[in-house]
Order: sequence, then structure tokens, then C-alpha cells
Amino acid sequence: MPIGGREAAFPARERDGSEGGRPGIGAGAEPGEAPGRSQDRGREPLGLRPATVAATLLPWVSHGIGDGLADPADPTLPGGLMTVAALPRVGVSACLLGERVRWDGDHRLQPFAAGEAARVEWVPVCPEVGIGLGVPREPIQLVRLEGGMRLFGVVSKRDLTETMRHWADAKVRSLTDLDGFVLKHRSPSCGVSGARVAASLDDLREDGPYTRSGQGLFAETLRNLRPELAIAEETDLEGPDGRREFFDRVQAAFRRRTGSETP
Ligand code: SF4
Repeated sequence: MPIGGREAAFPARERDGSEGGRPGIGAGAEPGEAPGRSQDRGREPLGLRPATVAATLLPWVSHGIGDGLADPADPTLPGGLMTVAALPRVGVSACLLGERVRWDGDHRLQPFAAGEAARVEWVPVCPEVGIGLGVPREPIQLVRLEGGMRLFGVVSKRDLTETMRHWADAKVRSLTDLDGFVLKHRSPSCGVSGARVAASLDDLREDGPYTRSGQGLFAETLRNLRPELAIAEETDLEGPDGRREFFDRVQAAFRRRTGSETP
């Protein structure tokens, strides 16, 4: 049973005020995200239908270009065995690869996901699904209390802080062979920066006041446990300079880790 068990109470079309189809203002946004930004990134980004997205990306996700593509019996290969070049392993917020794991059932597929798919092995992670929250689900939000930053369900007011911290700690420790990580900006779980923070539980409501001063709890754990790791948010990779700088760091980390050259 997912935490809260309230998936049916938060259908996306009720939250975005439409009767289905393409979501309207706010539907695809982080809670509180600017409407224009949300509308720019609809359910079928890059003109791809969901099946096309899956067919395009899934062969590369998690196990790299070799997974599912190699035929060990291929007689054209030496000894009949496919030799698959190792690639840098890069963790990524799963919604950025086009997986529909966001609170509203949407995704945030980014151009770099396919653009870099031949050069890295994506390792998708969704902390909110990881702790057992369903899709769709109620939005969650950080609240700054006297004892420190806490994570709550916006509607249920359920405190998810310890659950998320415990899961994030175990997950990060299990991902020992990563060369980088791309995280979702503004997420209360994945965001390095810009996540909504309420000043009190009284302010914790969908139309309540907040500041964009938070770091997601998964991102915080990742940065604490792996301070040497190359980490970027998707917004850092929108321009060619930012992409080159990040993926150069990834390739360098891969060479240090394996002592090998990359394609
Ligand atoms: S928890 Fe992270 S990966 Fe999951 S939907 Fe939110 S931003 Fe995306």
C-alpha cells in the first residue's frame, strides 16, 4: 500500500482544472512553478508520443546501449560474443528521462536524455516512488520548523522526513559506481535548489505562502555522501557550455574510476 494510500484523491485533471487531455496551467509544474514554464513542457515533449518516447529511450536506460541490443550468438562477433563498451554511469531523476512518475502523473523529458544516450548509461531514480508514494499522488513540500527542515504531504500533512532520509541514505550508498547525477530543479526530493519552503505548518497548503529556498532531501543526502560527484540540475544543461562542462566532468570521473577511455 503506497504511503498515504491516497492516489485516487489526487487525479491530475482535478488539479489542473481540465477535463482530461493536455494539462492546463499548473498541471505539470512543481507546486508553485510558474505557469508559462509548465505550459512549455507538456505531456508529449519533443513531439514524441509516449510509445515513441519509450521506444527511443528505454534501450539505453539503466543498462546502457548494450542492454537488450546485444545478440550473444552473433556470428560476426569474435567468439560469437558481443563485446559491449562500458559507459559512464549517470544517475538521473527519472522524470527527466520521460518516465511518468511525477506527482501529477506527468514527466519532464529533457533533450539531453536522448542526446547523451549513446555516451552514458542512465541510472534513473525517483525517490518519491521509491518511498512508496503512488502516481498520481498529493504534492509534497518542505517546511522549515524549529528542529530543522521537514518534508510533508501538502494535503494529508503526513510527515515523510524520516522515511525519505532513510530511503535516500540506503539508495545513495547502493549506487557506488556512479560518475555523475542529473537532478530535477525545484523538486522537494531531487532539487539541489529552488524547492518550495513553507515557514510553518499553517502555511502548508496549496495556495499558502512559500519561498524558493529549499534543497530536496534526496539531493541533500546525495551531496553529503558523495561530495566529489559531478552533480547538475536539468536547468544547468540547457545550454551547450553547461552540457559540455558537466559531461566532461562525468567522462573524467569515469576514466578515474575504471582507468579506461570512453567512446
Ligand atoms: S521525486 Fe524526483 S524523479 Fe521523482 S518525480 Fe519528483 S523530481 Fe522526478
